Amino acid sequence: MMIIMKEGATGTDIDDVINRLHAAGAEAHIHCGDPVTIAVEGDREEVAGLPLEVYSGVDRVVTLLRPYKLVSREFHQKDTMVSLGSTLLGGGHFGFIAGPCSVESRDQTLEAARFVKEAGATALRGGAFKPRTSPYAFQGLGEAALQILAEAREETGLPVVTELMDVRHLDLVLRYADVIQVGARNMQNFHLLAAVGEVDRPVLLKRGLSATIEELLMAAEYIVRAGNHKVIVCERGIRTFETATRNTLDISAVPIIKLRSHLPVVVDPSHASGRVELIESLSLAAIAAGADGLMIEAHPAPETALCDGAQSLSPAGFARVSARVADMVDWVGKTLG
Ligand code: PEP
Ligand code: MN
Repeated sequence: MMIIMKEGATGTDIDDVINRLHAAGAEAHIHCGDPVTIAVEGDREEVAGLPLEVYSGVDRVVTLLRPYKLVSREFHQKDTMVSLGSTLLGGGHFGFIAGPCSVESRDQTLEAARFVKEAGATALRGGAFKPRTSPYAFQGLGEAALQILAEAREETGLPVVTELMDVRHLDLVLRYADVIQVGARNMQNFHLLAAVGEVDRPVLLKRGLSATIEELLMAAEYIVRAGNHKVIVCERGIRTFETATRNTLDISAVPIIKLRSHLPVVVDPSHASGRVELIESLSLAAIAAGADGLMIEAHPAPETALCDGAQSLSPAGFARVSARVADMVDWVGKTLG
């Protein structure tokens, strides 16, 4: 349930409503927007029986049919903006995250950071802990990779996005990362979601391989409910019967999420398609559909990549795609960064 306050509602009006909710054993989450909204958590029957409409300052009480509250548009009407270093993502600001799938070496990562920065990226991605299907595949360099990413940030000024797979690595990743990525395979790792919800660091939450949009937003709700409002959701393709691409980019997820939620949406055309020749068209489609950002894999020498080479743009390819991305961002009236 959601309580929408009137425009001129006073602090006392809000306190009265909250005290009544607390007396009924319910919890209240306030959003001090315009208008002030209060999300209510508690026994449905009990809360529904409260005469909240008659309280001074209450405009209306809305019963939510959706199972998430804090990430919903009803709770917070304006687009959420999340900081990526000194740039923004969301609310008309477009975030352009790029870099290798994995940090493989210092040279490879620094080179990648330089060419993506040069082409206009606003953040650097790179995996230190890799969720690989095979236990025999490259698993990432761990802390050594985080140190390399920090050096790349130092040199280029690009904020760093890197994946956290295990709650036990949270402190370590916090020491280096500007944005914590929760990967597709961990979208419903509820302990991990709660843990990243307790820290003050932006989280990029990727859609699970077979997750519905509602499940994605419920996962985001776990993070926001724990106190961290800086959440970006990422459409990275879902499993379908189609085999021509690695996954199927669910382009309609972008406008649907934007209608239902205030959280910014990023599209990852690399994991969605698995094919370098599709990155440009899917990136442009994502921007046209309303995405607030892109996350693209790029590598100084994709043919030698230890992970995801077939979907990683070369420096020249990345420069070409970036130029089109910049034009398209401009065309939809957004600002890069
Ligand atoms: C990644 O971004 O490197 C990654 C592993 O993506 P996903 O979790 O979407 O598969
Ligand atoms: Mn990858």
